[in-house]
Amino acid sequence: MARYTEAVCRVCRRENTKLFLKGDRCYANKCAFERRAQAPGQHGGRRGKLSDYGAQLREKQKVKRTYGLLEKQFRSLFEKAERQKGITGANLLILLEKRLDNIVYRLGFATSRNQARQLVNHGHFLVNGRKVDIPSFLVKTGDLVSLREKSRQNAYIQQSMETVARRGVPRWLEMDKAAFQGRVKEAPVRDDLTMPISEQLIVELYSK
Ligand code: SF4
Repeated sequence: MARYTEAVCRVCRRENTKLFLKGDRCYANKCAFERRAQAPGQHGGRRGKLSDYGAQLREKQKVKRTYGLLEKQFRSLFEKAERQKGITGANLLILLEKRLDNIVYRLGFATSRNQARQLVNHGHFLVNGRKVDIPSFLVKTGDLVSLREKSRQNAYIQQSMETVARRGVPRWLEMDKAAFQGRVKEAPVRDDLTMPISEQLIVELYSK
């Protein structure tokens, strides 16, 4: 499967914001963005004023990289959001939140979306009792996401579950740590996303 391979902390510095791509490290003082916020590269110290196109492009890259998608996947999700009723930008963010890899991360089974994607790929999770190993699978309200019985001793997953308290589980999800499962109580809404995102810029970019 194609994936993004650039050093991930450079991405935060490029986008000028913390994207929380490295799990625990993002909350520690080892965070590269906390230590050196300037853009990567020789002239990274100079962040000039962005053109309209530049601002739209950076916003799209920021969201795409936060969720770890490649351009083709992101574009296809955008087209799906466009076909839905309502506001395209908000639809897009909600669709991103409903991806199985994101749900696994939000429930605390993984410390980052990247790790969550790997765990899903390796078949550690069930949705409503059935194995699903497709990170882009979109969960629905009422779906139950559980860790397979034989994966419950996995040291990475156990460690992640212990550290999730720092992040908390979003109000639209319900986690039962003892049973290694979580439920989608209701669909997320735009206001559930607290990260600063100007999704309208992405809509403008793709509408050109
Ligand atoms: Fe970004 Fe996390 Fe790296 Fe900090 S540690 S720069 S938040 S990926």
